[in-house]
Amino acid sequence: MDCLFCKIIKGEIPSKKVYEDEYCYAFEDIAPVAPVHILFVPKEHIASVSELNDSNSAAVSKIYEAIAKVAAEKELGNGYRVISNCGPDAGQTVFHLHFHLIGGKPLGLMCDK
Ligand code: 5GP
Ligand code: ZN
Repeated sequence: MDCLFCKIIKGEIPSKKVYEDEYCYAFEDIAPVAPVHILFVPKEHIASVSELNDSNSAAVSKIYEAIAKVAAEKELGNGYRVISNCGPDAGQTVFHLHFHLIGGKPLGLMCDK
């Protein structure tokens, strides 16, 4: 399967790793929209939120635990945003489930990602 984020997880494409555990891998977004912009991906290939079900959704709670941990490490106590774009209308460009952690500045009501 030709998936960019699967290749990043396997180390076939370089990335700036921020966090890793049994379930997820987190790395800096190549085109940050804020001082902190980190992508959290499940190690298992799941295309998007639409593909979640009872057998694969446990990874999502693990990812949110990792997000909370990293947000604390990055001192985002004043707030941050977590976004998962799903499908063309939302602007999803990489079809491996991912969660953007965005913060480090006031974000307004919404932002690009
Ligand atoms: P989406 O638009 O699918 O919600 O988010 C995909 C994200 O992946 C974008 O924010 C984009 O900047 C990021 N991205 C795309 N290619 C690469 C890459 O090769 N390395 C890294 N670190 N991020 C990437
Ligand atoms: Zn993948």
